[in-house]
Amino acid sequence: MPHDKNPIEQSPEVAEFWQAARERRLLLKRCGDCGERHFYPRPYCPFCGSARTSWEQSSGRGTIYAFSRPRKLPQPLAMAVIELQEGVRLTSVIVEAELDRLAIGQEVEVYWRMGEPAPELAFTTIEAQEARGYATRAIAEAAGVGG
Ligand SMILES: [Zn+2]
Repeated sequence: MPHDKNPIEQSPEVAEFWQAARERRLLLKRCGDCGERHFYPRPYCPFCGSARTSWEQSSGRGTIYAFSRPRKLPQPLAMAVIELQEGVRLTSVIVEAELDRLAIGQEVEVYWRMGEPAPELAFTTIEAQEARGYATRAIAEAAGVGG
């Protein structure tokens, strides 16, 4: 079955965004006239209307500005407004974290969920990400000892 590209990925204005997403990088748009950054990517700056916008890579890190935990969802996640280190606020979801312990101001980072037709932007807590990193290293070390 041929790979059907998501229609949004075919748009030349956002092709670069989705290419970066597949590499687990988050791109923001920055205006060449007023200097403001924005998300979601648009061809014209939402602050001043300028067409002189260009891509800039985000740190992918930020903090929780607001969140809510809908109880009746098929998968565990929290809806959240994230404030990126770059000052941009965006609405996303928090996954793969201790959702009962989320707090305003908690540090989060981008956690792309790879899927078709397009990667899905999500965030996870730095705490959960570090715990996973530790577990991965422990497994690798155990495997090394065993082999
Ligand atoms: Zn502008």
